Amino acid sequence: MLRVIVNGAYGRMGCEVMKAVWNSGDMELVGAVDSAGTGTDIGTLIGVAHTGIILENNLEEMLRRLRPDVAVDFTTPHVVYQNCITCIKCGVRPVVGTTGMSSGQIQEVINLSQELGVGGLIAPNFAIGALLMIKFATEAARHMPNVEIIELHHDQKIDAPSGTAIKTAEAICEQRGDFQQGLATQFENITGARGGKFNGGIRIHSVRLPGLVAHQEVIFGGLGQTLTIKHDSINRESFMPGVLLGIRKAMHLERVVYGLDKLLFD
Ligand code: NAP
Repeated sequence: MLRVIVNGAYGRMGCEVMKAVWNSGDMELVGAVDSAGTGTDIGTLIGVAHTGIILENNLEEMLRRLRPDVAVDFTTPHVVYQNCITCIKCGVRPVVGTTGMSSGQIQEVINLSQELGVGGLIAPNFAIGALLMIKFATEAARHMPNVEIIELHHDQKIDAPSGTAIKTAEAICEQRGDFQQGLATQFENITGARGGKFNGGIRIHSVRLPGLVAHQEVIFGGLGQTLTIKHDSINRESFMPGVLLGIRKAMHLERVVYGLDKLLFD
C-alpha cells in the first residue's frame, strides 16, 4: 500500500482527493493537513464514519513523524512552493495540483528534487481530457498558428490565468517557434480587454463565475475558418483518475516532473 497524506485537505480538491485515495484499494490515507479545520476527523469530510485521522496544521512535523511515500498538495498559490521544498527536504514525494507557482519556482523545485533524488509531480491539470486538449491544440498550431485561449473557472479561484492555460500556451509556443501573431500596435479602451499577452502574442482570457468548474477553449483562426478545441471539467471527480495515476507514477521517478502529460504520452 502507498502511504499518502493530503495537504489542503479541508479544501474542495483536498476532500475529493482524500475520497479517491480512501477508495483506491492500493493506497492508504495516513494523514491530512490544512490551515483550516484543525482537529476535524476526516470522516466528516469524505462521508464515512469516524476514521481516527485528524486534520493537523503542521506539514513538516507530519512528514517527519509519519514518513509517507507521497504528499498530495491542493493548497494555495502562496504556500505551494514552500510546501514542495519542505516535502523534498524531508524525502517525501510531492504530487502537486496547486497552480500559481512561477516558472522559476517550478524549476527550483525540479533542481532540488534532482539534487536530492526525490521523485514527484507538478501537474497544472490532472484531467486526462484536458491533457488531450493540450496535445491536440499543439498539433493544430503546426497548421494554424494564430490562436487565442479562453479559460473559465469558478469565482473562488485566486490566480489567473490558469496553470492549464499557461501550459497550453507554452506547448503551442514550442511548436510554432518564433511566430508572432496580431497587430504590433493595438490599443484597449478598457485595460485588459484583449486579455493577458503570452509569448509570441498569444492572448489568454480568464473568466471567473459561480457555476463554472474548470473549462478551456483554444480557438485557432485561419483564412475563412476557425477551429475550436474545448474541454470541460464538469465536477472535481474529473481530476481524480489523473491524481491517482500521478501518485502511482511518482513512486518510480527520481526527480519532480512538470506535467502529467510527460508521464502519459512521452
Ligand atoms: P480551496 O477549496 O481554497 O482549498 C485550498 C485549501 O488549502 C483550503 O482549505 C486552505 O485553507 C488550505 N490552505 C491554505 N494555506 C494552507 C497552508 N499553509 N497549509 C495547508 N493548507 C492550506 O481550493 P481548491 O478549489 O481545492 O483548489 C486548490 C488548488 O488546486 C488551487 O490552486 C486550484 O487552482 C488547484 N486545482 C488544480 C487542479 C489540477 O488538476 N491540477 C484542479 C482543480 C484545482 P484556508 O481556507 O484556511 O486558506
